[in-house]
Amino acid sequence: MKLTVTLPHHRYDLTIGAGLLANVGQWVSGLWKPQRVMIITDETVKALYAEQVVKQLRQEGFTADVFAVPTGETSKSLTQAEELYDWLASQGMTRKDGIIALGGGVVGDLTGFVASTFMRGLHFLQIPTTLLAQVDSSIGGKTAVNTKSAKNLVGTFAQPDGVLIDTDTLKTLEPRRVREGIAEIVKSAAIADKELWETLSKLKDEADLLANAEAIITACCKVKRQVVEEDEFDTGQRLILNFGHTIGHAIENTAGYGVVTHGEAVSIGMIQISRVAEEKGLMPLGTTAQLIEMVTKFNLPITTEHWSEEALYKALTHDKKAVGSDIRIVLLESIGKAKIVKIVTDEMREFLIK
Ligand code: NAD
Repeated sequence: MKLTVTLPHHRYDLTIGAGLLANVGQWVSGLWKPQRVMIITDETVKALYAEQVVKQLRQEGFTADVFAVPTGETSKSLTQAEELYDWLASQGMTRKDGIIALGGGVVGDLTGFVASTFMRGLHFLQIPTTLLAQVDSSIGGKTAVNTKSAKNLVGTFAQPDGVLIDTDTLKTLEPRRVREGIAEIVKSAAIADKELWETLSKLKDEADLLANAEAIITACCKVKRQVVEEDEFDTGQRLILNFGHTIGHAIENTAGYGVVTHGEAVSIGMIQISRVAEEKGLMPLGTTAQLIEMVTKFNLPITTEHWSEEALYKALTHDKKAVGSDIRIVLLESIGKAKIVKIVTDEMREFLIK
């Protein structure tokens, strides 16, 4: 399946299917002339998939090499980025050469950041290998690294030349990592795709979802594509992708990163904001019950013991989505349709009452 992302200054395809890595060399050849291609990955993904990518690129006439960063969120740092700049420089990279991100969202965000800043920007491709990266982070052109003060504080908007989504790579992903992606899939359906919601409703569990990965990932990519095409630089409508994330980020932040994972926090965030919105008459009755049924089926949580209204409020009002004394929150008009509602920041306290 091929989807084209069309932006004012750039067009690129998302190619989605099972077993696509087996032809990765041809895919790159279709996009780039023979040149130097540097693959950035993490240690875990390197051991699984890097060899076949390098081998195929060399067969197609590319000069290919791999750099693996340590696995995990801490690699999304300026220190790691600098190490990569030095490595790329030592390899004699020029602006005519290209970079490939092979891995999850960490590798994708870091590589996009490095590619878009090294020598003022090189071409790059995304080969996402986690469900979260396949439905969310590899599409849309947001790149970032973390700093001591905040996650994703430093970054760029930079679109890749192409995205290759091989659903077979999900076979090696741990179940907890699969759920990270499922939270975003449920979110995508809830905000923008009633048909996808109905498809998900018919599934039994995570395994059932993975058995239908290509169709489900394609539907999510369509949601993300539409939002990104409408609002590439995140100045308006793109906010709907943050359904459940405002409270979710605050939960991640206050529980300590990793204690509650991002997907778990988003799941809890969606339920919490919907429950209160429903009580306040801002969302149709019964929506939260539908959301609870959906996330529970996929073993995602609906609440956490790590809950402090005050700490959450503090974390939330420091969040970059808080503008002046107003805050924009994402609610559902109905399942499959999001709406953005502006509230005064103080009213956010009510949304944090458990
Ligand atoms: P990740 O990249 O750390 O990957 C999770 C784990 O899975 C890692 O241990 C990784 O080595 C392993 N892994 C990756 N592919 C595998 C495979 N096929 N088989 C086995 N193991 C595999 O985390 P993630 O959840 O993919 O991404 C999280 C990051 O994405 C965060 O930093 C977040 O900020 C970012 N993100 C960015 C955007 C965006 O728009 N740019 C959107 C959402 C999230």
